[in-house]
Amino acid sequence: MTSAELRKAFLDYFVKQNHTAVHTSPVVPGNDPTLLFTNAGMVQFKETFLGQETRDYTRATSVQRCIRAGGKHNDLENVGYTARHHTFFEMLGNFSFGDYFKQEAIKFAWDFLTKELGLPEEKLWVTVFEEDDETAGIWLNEMGISSERFSRCGAKDNFWQMGDTGPCGPCTEIFYDHGEDVAGGPPGSPDEDGDRYIEIWNLVFMQFDRAADGTLTPLPKPSVDTGMGLERLAAVMQNVHNNYEIDLFQAIVKKAAELTNQTDLTNNSLRVIADHIRSCAFTIVDGVLPSNEGRGYVLRRIIRRAIRHGYKLGMNDVFFYKLVPVLVEQMGEAYPELVKEQANVERALKLEEERFAETLENGMKLLEDYITGMKGSVIEGEIAFKLYDTYGFPLDLTADVARERELTVDEAGFEKSMEAQRERARSASNFGAQSAGKIDYAGETQFVGYDRDEAEAKVMAIFVD
Ligand code: ATP
Ligand code: MG
Ligand code: MG
Ligand code: MG
Repeated sequence: MTSAELRKAFLDYFVKQNHTAVHTSPVVPGNDPTLLFTNAGMVQFKETFLGQETRDYTRATSVQRCIRAGGKHNDLENVGYTARHHTFFEMLGNFSFGDYFKQEAIKFAWDFLTKELGLPEEKLWVTVFEEDDETAGIWLNEMGISSERFSRCGAKDNFWQMGDTGPCGPCTEIFYDHGEDVAGGPPGSPDEDGDRYIEIWNLVFMQFDRAADGTLTPLPKPSVDTGMGLERLAAVMQNVHNNYEIDLFQAIVKKAAELTNQTDLTNNSLRVIADHIRSCAFTIVDGVLPSNEGRGYVLRRIIRRAIRHGYKLGMNDVFFYKLVPVLVEQMGEAYPELVKEQANVERALKLEEERFAETLENGMKLLEDYITGMKGSVIEGEIAFKLYDTYGFPLDLTADVARERELTVDEAGFEKSMEAQRERARSASNFGAQSAGKIDYAGETQFVGYDRDEAEAKVMAIFVD
């Protein structure tokens, strides 16, 4: 089954179960300052779950475009290192707003996987929240699944929350066993972090609203929010283990290989580039441009990271924006907004690439020389700061290079240099060189400047930890 067929099969199935199909919302949440990006299908229904908004339906289904590159759900560091994580992915979901609850949600999911898609039960593994006996009972007694492929897990994996605040609740998850050729243990076991058992579907029983102080208030009506990664499901249905081998990715990986003169399509940098073009393009489609703060800085960091991977493959010319047409071919039908914004996306990416190209090579030379001569395994904070300050290397880019060589970066040292820089800027402004408040160095340097306001500092803090 192709990814396009899977999207359709999912929506059709839930529409048949009286769900209303709702188009995806943008990756930038409409009016939610607590969220950097839409990280799940439930985001556009947040107010409905909270009872602050009513809709003329109580069951919905969608294919939501999601970004997990910041905030509570951040998978940027996983991209290129696991078979299953992307910065951008599509989430298939079905939702009940005070309509059905646990029993039906479980039955819908199980029937879709085992009957509609025909997946063998022996390949599926189920987890529940350790305190949720009711859900355990439904799976074991009513659905009759084997206790050998069932485990109870703690809150880390089986209590889902959108962010630090907002709707949340216990969940039950369905995993697919990719077979003993792949390393990794079943969920709940000590080596669960491998990629043998891949989580495909999470069914969340939305029951609480979490406040900033941590208190949980029951929602007006218990609800259901589910999310299944399209790419992970496609991998299962297309008999491949790694998400990057599915149809949606292969065309992009091939084009990236062609542009960078590579022959090995499993090359990791090609996969990273294929991942990043998706998140970068959709972030721009939804109105963000590269900048030094907030969402714009996340975008800039992802673009620069992709370009650095191109450089690693020997690219000296701009190439990244040239992937946009193939992306549009693959995803334009499902996302007409991408087709409409194609020219803007290409323009913005090209501009950012041209800017960074001016310093990337010199910065990489500095870093390579430093690494050749360094002692120990920690790159000094001052070096990382110089790369950031003079060459426009976001900290995570330097950390990405470091990780490839099994090195780390002294992030505290980086922060210290940054603070010293801020201090100098502050005292300069006290002498009246700048008006009070934000200092804009953008005119002096076209690279990542010092105009890091609160928002950016916050974003940086998220990525640093
Ligand atoms: P994982 O444990 O693998 O990181 P998760 O528990 O963080 O996944 P959920 O928040 O439960 O994921 O999201 C629901 C579903 O969305 C997951 O079961 C998975 O199929 C998919 N998904 C989550 N994160 C990603 C990602 N970064 N890339 C692709 N698919 C994802
Ligand atoms: Mg995760
Ligand atoms: Mg998980
Ligand atoms: Mg999960």
